[in-house]
Amino acid sequence: MNLDDYRGVWVFIEQNDGKIEGVSLELLGAGRKLADKLQVPLSGFLLGEGIRNLAQQVIAYGADQVYLIDHPVLKHYRTESYMKGVITIAEHYKPEIILYGATPNGKDLASAVATDLNTGLTADTTMLDVDLDSRLLEASRPAFGGNIMATILCKKHRPQMATVRPKVMKALVPDTNRAGKIIEEEISLKEEEMRTKVLQIVNDVTKKTNLADAHVIVCGGKGMGDLQNFQLIHEFAETIGASVGGTRDVVEAGWLPHEQQVGQTGETVTPKIYFAIGISGAIQHVVGMKNSELIIAINKDPNAPIFDVATFGIVGDAMEIVPRLIEQFKSLRI
Ligand code: FAD
Repeated sequence: MNLDDYRGVWVFIEQNDGKIEGVSLELLGAGRKLADKLQVPLSGFLLGEGIRNLAQQVIAYGADQVYLIDHPVLKHYRTESYMKGVITIAEHYKPEIILYGATPNGKDLASAVATDLNTGLTADTTMLDVDLDSRLLEASRPAFGGNIMATILCKKHRPQMATVRPKVMKALVPDTNRAGKIIEEEISLKEEEMRTKVLQIVNDVTKKTNLADAHVIVCGGKGMGDLQNFQLIHEFAETIGASVGGTRDVVEAGWLPHEQQVGQTGETVTPKIYFAIGISGAIQHVVGMKNSELIIAINKDPNAPIFDVATFGIVGDAMEIVPRLIEQFKSLRI
């Protein structure tokens, strides 16, 4: 394999029902920086049915060009058909880097493509950079239980690939005047050749909390002591119209369901305001909330690591402070 044959940064643009996933737009922002550093174009590639109208949005968010395959067989995501689409274009155009959102479909697709192209894949990346001399992608992610950050390189194979979690990278402000090229590709796909059939799509309506989209989150930790005291977190959240989150220890204690866990093995969140109450600030928690705009931490230990990422810190007993906050906010009648 001649590594110099591979040039360009590509982002897989995931769309569902004609709507581009937020993580794909975030990756265009991250990909733009890598492409500028490497002085190569940034390309989006978009698969689906009836998706031509989305190409301009991909350009507005930073792509120089969009490769698209519009085909009825690509109406719904299936590993087989999407993998064929990605591999066909990747083999033809030879990108040096491909980024995917670490969504269920993105992870499934990236791993299938990596296997087929016999290349490497760094999963759940939280930081991306490139080394200009070697042109190697530096994909960093927590490793060994989150105790260290590992930077993973793919030295001998191309394309270099990574999945990135939603809400970790920042999307650019869209510029609808940006010009770019739209390149329509054709591949041979036949429904009768597909081994997987989509018979019905059933939306999960049981998930009540969508932490990833919340503007204000009150997150409680093990420092709340017990389930009864944890009710203060719910009461405070309700008072200020916030969503409730918890650390893994809280979820393991059964005080909250897993869907409300924030961190490496839970949700990544970027609210405008994040209250961290009785939370020590372990790295596995911090990676999931450190990009919040304003972080207010309450902890009785002045040396708790959460204060390293907090915008404001209150040192004291949450059992005294939270009831006072509830009282104060209630009196404001907001
Ligand atoms: P603790 O670490 O026990 O901290 C409690 C804090 O409360 C302390 O700082 C203490 O000073 C303070 N406190 C105690 N009493 C009071 C009081 N009355 N008032 C105010 N403060 C008080 N964790 C996550 O959160 N999310 C993840 O996704 C996640 N994934 C993980 C993945 C792996 C592979 C591993 C190994 C770990 C993971 N963890 C995760 C666990 C993580 O390492 C920590 O154990 C966890 O975040 C600690 O939770 P905590 O802050 O609630 O509890």
